Amino acid sequence: LRVLGIEGTAWAASAAVYDTDASDSDAVFIETDAYQPESGGIHPREAAEHMSDAIPEVVETALAAADGEIDAVAFSRGPGLGPCLRTVGTAARALAQTLDVPLVGVNHMVAHLEIGRQQSGFDSPVCLNASGANAHVLGYRNGRYRVLGETMDTGVGNAIDKFTRHVGWSHPGGPKVEEAARDGEYTELPYVVKGMDFSFSGIMSAAKDAYDGRRNGGDGATVEDVCFSLQENVFAMLTEVAERALSLTGSDELVLGGGVGQNARLREMLREMCDQRGAEFYAPDPRFLRDNAGMIAVLGAEMVRAGDTIAVEESAVDPNFRPDQVDVSWRGDDES
Ligand code: ATP
Repeated sequence: LRVLGIEGTAWAASAAVYDTDASDSDAVFIETDAYQPESGGIHPREAAEHMSDAIPEVVETALAAADGEIDAVAFSRGPGLGPCLRTVGTAARALAQTLDVPLVGVNHMVAHLEIGRQQSGFDSPVCLNASGANAHVLGYRNGRYRVLGETMDTGVGNAIDKFTRHVGWSHPGGPKVEEAARDGEYTELPYVVKGMDFSFSGIMSAAKDAYDGRRNGGDGATVEDVCFSLQENVFAMLTEVAERALSLTGSDELVLGGGVGQNARLREMLREMCDQRGAEFYAPDPRFLRDNAGMIAVLGAEMVRAGDTIAVEESAVDPNFRPDQVDVSWRGDDES
């Protein structure tokens, strides 16, 4: 089976071909063209314009790399920015019709977690999705990924990016915070976990205030200190909820997904927590953590095998598509 995946929920105009018969190292070809805002954060209209400019080329490159004909077209139906999703949805429908193959509508957040589950070979892991626009902990039960805990306000990456915009650093901010944090020391910032949910807005305001204190001539925390402390608190919050989810579900497997998962400190904390409780931890390679069409093609193939394709007239995108809305067709034999 050879599936073309197309991703375009926010910044990554990406196309991939997954060949289920190829050897592991050649199985997924991914071509991505990233949108880089000139200033500020991601602007939905500009990002959608980037999609319409870049998608034809990345698709052409992926198709050229495919070793034979395509059997299905899978695309991100949501969640994401409406203008981007609509542009990419239109491209996917047109391609499926031109190639005369089935269309598969993939939930982007379920793709973020499924790629790790499949690569790890874990049975029924708890999944932490730490991405730009989202942050949630999921567990599988009776045919759906249940949201066990989630952000009460912004996504974790977006929260970090808001702080770095305030500092004047270019988008995306996450890697710059990781770099600066290496030279920082702890300064007090809020830590907000309520039950199984977490909140990032208060900590971001406090981080901006701490940064402004020094900038305005105070002798407070340096920007490195703020970056260090942001990472420590935000990632400890995610780790705490992930640990409680392992405890509540009785699972001893944790999978990480999403672009913030590229952060070495987050992975270190999660790995340590898992080691301490005798659980196993898996984080995919960075190319499968950040937004990418590879994960769309891989889950798309599972869905095709399960007969979970979609008619063009029913394939409208959904900017608020939650992972727990998805009927998990491809794990039919698993009732855990
Ligand atoms: P979503 O998957 O929710 O739609 P998204 O489209 O923003 O999110 P992702 O690629 O999953 O895309 O994540 C991008 C986010 O990851 C950005 O907010 C970016 O700052 C953050 N990020 C990237 N690298 C790092 C890093 N090393 N440390 C922390 N955050 C990072």
